[in-house]
Amino acid sequence: MVVMATGSGKSLCYQLPSLLRDGVGIVISPLIALMKDQVTELEQLGVAAACLYTGQSWQQQQEIEQQLKMGALDILYLSPEKLMSHSTLQQLHEIDIALFAIDEAHCIWSWGDYFRPEYQQLNLLATEFPRIPRIALTATASQQCREAIIQQLSLEDAQIYDEDIDRNNLIYWVQPKQRGNKQLLEFILCRHKGHSGIVYCSTRKQVEELQLFLSAENIACESYHAGIEASDRWKIQQRFMTDETSVIVATVAFGLGINKPDVRFVAHMGLPQNLDAYLQETGRAGRDGQEADVWMLFGLRDYQRRLSWILNEETFEEKRQFELQQLHNMMDYILDHQCRRKKLFEYYSPKHQRQDCTCHQCDNCFFIKKTTEITEDARKALSAVHHCKGQLGVDSIIKILRGKKLSNSMALPLEGKNGNKDEIAYQSLSVYGLGAEQSTDYWRSVFWKLILEGAVCFQGEYCELIKLAPSCKALLKGEETLHQSGLKYFTTQDFFSHKYQDEYKNHPLYKKLQSLRSALATKLSLYQYQLFSDETLQQLVEKMPQNISQLSVIEGMGKMRAQKYADEIFGLIQQYKDQKCTELKHVLLDLPQIIDPQAIEHYAVTKALTLQEVDQQFSEYLRLGLVHPHQILPFPKEKIQAVIAEWTFQTDLSGRVEAQQFYKNQYESHWFNCFCQAQRFLQQTNNKEAIE
Ligand SMILES: [Zn+2]
Repeated sequence: MVVMATGSGKSLCYQLPSLLRDGVGIVISPLIALMKDQVTELEQLGVAAACLYTGQSWQQQQEIEQQLKMGALDILYLSPEKLMSHSTLQQLHEIDIALFAIDEAHCIWSWGDYFRPEYQQLNLLATEFPRIPRIALTATASQQCREAIIQQLSLEDAQIYDEDIDRNNLIYWVQPKQRGNKQLLEFILCRHKGHSGIVYCSTRKQVEELQLFLSAENIACESYHAGIEASDRWKIQQRFMTDETSVIVATVAFGLGINKPDVRFVAHMGLPQNLDAYLQETGRAGRDGQEADVWMLFGLRDYQRRLSWILNEETFEEKRQFELQQLHNMMDYILDHQCRRKKLFEYYSPKHQRQDCTCHQCDNCFFIKKTTEITEDARKALSAVHHCKGQLGVDSIIKILRGKKLSNSMALPLEGKNGNKDEIAYQSLSVYGLGAEQSTDYWRSVFWKLILEGAVCFQGEYCELIKLAPSCKALLKGEETLHQSGLKYFTTQDFFSHKYQDEYKNHPLYKKLQSLRSALATKLSLYQYQLFSDETLQQLVEKMPQNISQLSVIEGMGKMRAQKYADEIFGLIQQYKDQKCTELKHVLLDLPQIIDPQAIEHYAVTKALTLQEVDQQFSEYLRLGLVHPHQILPFPKEKIQAVIAEWTFQTDLSGRVEAQQFYKNQYESHWFNCFCQAQRFLQQTNNKEAIE
């Protein structure tokens, strides 16, 4: 059994052994779209792959079955329904099989959100083909789910490869709901203008409304939910895959078949179903390994809706308790002030627990929240809940605590002393105005803490009314203390201060490669990412390969593609270099005494560039090997050598580790680093002599 993060090479675990072992690798996959994508990608790499499912034409199925019989396939993808058919099983008995891989194995778990009844019949693989290896693969699996997979696929003796499922390119953000849609808009405009993203909502109505709202704000988006015709849904998905639509606003119906690697953000407008679902859904961001955001809004109403759904669901008690626990875990994750990653992976990768609690990639690590004692205020809040006798909601009780007026409809349920329905009865309560000095947000955070501690609970059809729970006694008696860190509302400044690292996308060569990719994709009817990922383009810009062997080792390229597209790629790189060469000639003309720092400053002024931009320009010339450092750096030749030697041995200079990694990987970047190193050295020592 393999538990591995999405995008970390999970499919390689069955693809490689399928190629190395005799016979064909049979992969069971829950979705046709997913199978088709995988087949196209494998074909691009020169692997003989195909897929079989019940919706194919008779002729198509015949062709593939023929190939299967002749042993012409390396990997065959099957839908579970197709596998179960008598004729398919018969055929499988007649051929050599390398292995069975059960992809998305969590679909086997009947308590899970992704349950597929057909998956439960897969236990027949163990009895029908006892000698053929079985591999179960999943990206998220809680303990219960793991046990279900192992038991149903008879994997009791199998080894478990439990990889760290942390996705370190994801940045986690969680914030309380305040202005809803506007908060989302702010997030998108600050961090993801023009990027591909998915926004999850809980209801169809919410989806439709949000889509209208975002469209009015000029964001190219479409809505997606189960109420839309299947053929239209397919079209919407296509437009998303081909980047015609950048944002999809959807219910959880969207996503299982989506394998778009360059999704730059996944947003949740309300509570995800549970942490399992949260991991699955957020796992759709940044599959290409590039930085991506996962962002969530949460509110009390979402919590109450989910709670009432669980309490009213017709199910057996054990499952209800399990779901309540899951909801509690979700809220615990949301409200905790510790590192999000640490918290999240305590649930899922207990083996890979983090000791230190700062990842620098989640809101809790960005904005350290102060924890304060709230015992006294918690007691005030409990007392108010007690006085309102389970007749009011949290917002009304906060108003009472703050000494504010309730609307008539809210005030009515509180009866006056003699049983009269007295509108101003609440104003004579002893708790009225008791917490006037604190803000509504503060009181909300106190209530959240009480909910999480189980000191209060909800009643009413929609769980809208709050009452005391038995476990509040310890608090009221003063036997317990409570601590809480406040809720954090992000500002645009917060979003900008942790800026996204995608400057490379502005590189002129990157843009050219992008247009090439887009043109080729249209010509070959492929998705852009099936040709080259963003990371491949980025590496092409960084490394600028000169020949086929250098080109084929670029991440995601491979020999076949290198040969196929070499001419076009080399053409663009050469074009770029020629252009830089011409540019450089002008610079050298403008700058006769190039080692003079004053001349550089003068050059910057006349060209209306900042010194940093000049640095960047010169670094690029160095990187391209067009000049030697002593031609541009304000040092004599020997000094440069000395600087570099000195720098290498200084361990405390910032950026050293990064630079060294660069250094090791790329010969061409060598000069670029010399330049950076020399620059840094100069800044650190502020050595005037070095300049002279
Ligand atoms: Zn963190």
